[in-house]
Amino acid sequence: MSVEASAPAYIRSISPYIPGKPISELARELGLDAHTIVKLASNENPLGMSPKARAAVLSAIDELGRYPDGNGFGLKQALSRKLGVSADCFVLGNGSNDALELAARAFLPAGASAVYSQHAFAVYALAVQCVGARGIEVPARAWGHDLAAMADAITTDTRVVFIANPNNPTGTFIPGHLIAAFLERVPQNVVVVLDEAYNEYLHPELRYDSVSWLARFPNLVISRTFSKIYGLAGLRVGYVVANPVVVDLMNRVRAPFNVNTLALAAAEAALGDEAFLKQSYELNSSGMAQILAGLDALNLEHIPSGGNFITFRVGDAAAVNKRLLQQGVIVRPIANYGMPEWLRVSIGLPAENARFLEALAVALKA
Ligand SMILES: *Cc1c(COP(=O)(O)O)cnc(C)c1O
Repeated sequence: MSVEASAPAYIRSISPYIPGKPISELARELGLDAHTIVKLASNENPLGMSPKARAAVLSAIDELGRYPDGNGFGLKQALSRKLGVSADCFVLGNGSNDALELAARAFLPAGASAVYSQHAFAVYALAVQCVGARGIEVPARAWGHDLAAMADAITTDTRVVFIANPNNPTGTFIPGHLIAAFLERVPQNVVVVLDEAYNEYLHPELRYDSVSWLARFPNLVISRTFSKIYGLAGLRVGYVVANPVVVDLMNRVRAPFNVNTLALAAAEAALGDEAFLKQSYELNSSGMAQILAGLDALNLEHIPSGGNFITFRVGDAAAVNKRLLQQGVIVRPIANYGMPEWLRVSIGLPAENARFLEALAVALKA
């Protein structure tokens, strides 16, 4: 038997996650100066990290000869104060991606099934496949989650449901009361992972208090990240807030030092930087308006987005993407999400948004 054949069939059939193209890679390919490239492909915060997080990283440097605090005491205390639940309600992850995988590893045995939506975040299918479980992909409605159909899709062997709110890459948003009604319908032995990676970008009128639902729904797992509005994507830190019983199980399958010292320090400091959060939110609102106006001027269809990105239809997205890359602009093609006519662009700084819109006009004319 070949070494390849000794990997289980469900591992061999995984199609790898396709990340946004790194700036350094495009610079090499085009022979361009990296500083002239605009990357709006991975929903990062265009401001980078908060100054407080930066200072915390610099002052944690001298501790790097030692292992991190495997329990993340300081960060969990800060989260506990911020969200108003006890510190034993948190699991920390190497990015929330790690936390999503921990949920699959803890609750999804090989052969069981997990339910998620068509066009939902790609990591759900990957996490399910990695443990040898079966993914049930429920057709989307108007590009978003069809919660009624998702509830109907749950079978006796379903152990996990994934919901992204807002969803990536479509940006679609589900009002809180509909999620609460969905939780009422789902059997309590089925874990519902509510991925709120873009929660902090929600308009105040759309906000809902999912953390308060934990008291009623012990099967609810809320995941959030420091990669998006908090600007720490490169450090890899996210978390889950859930019932302590669920948290205990997820911690058993977690690598002991999955979140590093710099990430712990930065995340704790970032949580306390309200001014940076507000600045990032406002920059996103104005940048979203700028890009929407530009897309409207180009007569392009787009999906209303609750996040820091917008998905729009161009027809031959692969060709348009290529012409954007030639102009040093990186966005995200999403053919792998079943949307070959669409591109996703992250909201950047005003000058980056303008550069993107100019390049897009050129790319569409060609
Ligand atoms: C970006 C994103 C994440 C978070 O990724 P990290 O691993 O925390 O960097 C999770 N879910 C969705 C829907 C996302 O778009």
